[in-house]
Amino acid sequence: MRDRIIELKNKIANNSFSSREERFDSCNELLTLTLKENSKDDIAFAYLSLASYYANVAHDMTLLSQYMQKTREYLSMEPSVDLIAYYTLKALSDDTTFDLLSRLDCYLEIIRIAEILNIESKAFFAYGNIAELFRLCQDYKTALEYSIETYDKYMSSEENYANNKVITLTNIVELLNHIGKVDDVPFYISEIEKLNWESKVYPILLNICYLRLYSMQKDKEKAVQLNQKLLTTVKEFPANKNFKYDCVINMAEAMMYVEAFDEVLTIVEYMEELFSSEDVNEWLQIQKIKIEYYEKTHNEDNLKYQYINFIKAYENVETENQSTKIAGIRAHIEIQNIIKHEEKLLDDNASLRTDSLVDVMTQLYNRRYINTFLMNISDDQKLKSIGFAILDVDYFKEYNDTYGHIKGDQVLIEISNIIRSIASLSPDCIKACRIGGDEFFCIFLNTSEDEVETYIKEAVNQLSIKAIQHETSKCANRVTLSIGFGVEEMTPDFNPQRLLEKIDAVLYNSKRSGRNTYSKYVSEGENHDE
Ligand code: GH3
Ligand code: MG
Repeated sequence: MRDRIIELKNKIANNSFSSREERFDSCNELLTLTLKENSKDDIAFAYLSLASYYANVAHDMTLLSQYMQKTREYLSMEPSVDLIAYYTLKALSDDTTFDLLSRLDCYLEIIRIAEILNIESKAFFAYGNIAELFRLCQDYKTALEYSIETYDKYMSSEENYANNKVITLTNIVELLNHIGKVDDVPFYISEIEKLNWESKVYPILLNICYLRLYSMQKDKEKAVQLNQKLLTTVKEFPANKNFKYDCVINMAEAMMYVEAFDEVLTIVEYMEELFSSEDVNEWLQIQKIKIEYYEKTHNEDNLKYQYINFIKAYENVETENQSTKIAGIRAHIEIQNIIKHEEKLLDDNASLRTDSLVDVMTQLYNRRYINTFLMNISDDQKLKSIGFAILDVDYFKEYNDTYGHIKGDQVLIEISNIIRSIASLSPDCIKACRIGGDEFFCIFLNTSEDEVETYIKEAVNQLSIKAIQHETSKCANRVTLSIGFGVEEMTPDFNPQRLLEKIDAVLYNSKRSGRNTYSKYVSEGENHDE
């Protein structure tokens, strides 16, 4: 029995199967044998191999998550290759539930374990995936930083990694596209051209980068020509539907960018041809492109029809079989997620928090985020003004002493939620942070002093509506805030530290004048207390 277990394990590890049935049977046989033998590590391996089968071959995410749970029961948490495989699959199963935070944790774990075990390729892989998470959150700047870091890591290795390098470079070009840094694109394209990589995928990826470049340069003619050539190549490309999908999505984006809407339609038609009815993600991607297409071409009727399509998917689930039903419900949830992601969650970045940038308890940005943000602020050409607000809870020490720390934490979370909801009113312009302790901080971009004041009044108002009892407060019988804020025009010599000190000083005014109030810093040096 031991020999057979070893044989099966090797086979699975090397993925040497001639058919998916053989792979499935081997995993099951291994599970049966290991359960009989009751060897914990091997049972974990068997469950893991089944999870991998459902993730990568059968694409059944329900069974994937079931087998992941089983794996978790048996798998040792000591650093091992299996543990890396476990987190890789876990990230994949979290992918389908849009749980970006949990995926992030998986990748951070992979990096940690890979570093202990000295398996650089796995760490690089995880870095690349973290970039992808930021991209999903539309934080393209951070995604770009991670992608470039990933590329540098591949370059610093003695291994070849041509495949990964090309993919990373293609991602970099895509991100440069998103943030409009056209001047950097030729450099990364030339890096791709330097690589010797014998693969049919290579010319396609390279051309997609060129397509991005042309579309960014608004050279519609060149872009359309290349797009048509590419579409033919992609159509003829053997198998691998996922790859084809990635390609055409990139192409549709580029065509949308140069407003070549006929091309977009041709691509959508092709996507619909490729589409297999059981894959909700594919279906959603098509709908997303269509919606963007109708939005851009101002085709209100079709747009409405497209939305109705979403709803239909949901209604249909009543009549169809079980798997369609699940797919429909998932579609509905994912649509909600897409809308949520695009409209709200993305910019306040509540959906993606790294330990390093986000405060764990409140899920607001932390001090490190603020520092990084302020350091890069002078690069932002479009920035006309910047405002800061510091909000500090009044007599919070007394609150803790009276109601205990746990209740205190709940108050901090309540206040965070209020601040977050204010920031979500204008996610491009307001960044909500917790500096530490009972102190919160907001950054307001291109927001007038009057607007900032309105937001602050709203936060104060919401907190007063909540009326959180605080009987030992010396300024009210409920939890209150003291606030200092101010706005400055952006000038070349703008100094965030100086503005911070000013705002800190007006916050002190608020405290000194009895708390539960806000004070404004006025550039001329004249402060108005409210
Ligand atoms: P003031 O009105 O002058 O701001 O009085 P204060 O008591 O709020 O004084 P200060 O802001 O200096 O004190 C902050 C207190 O916040 C100290 C500490 O007990 C509490 N605190 C800091 N971090 C946390 C936390 O994470 N959870 C809880 N529950 N309390 C915290
Ligand atoms: Mg305080």
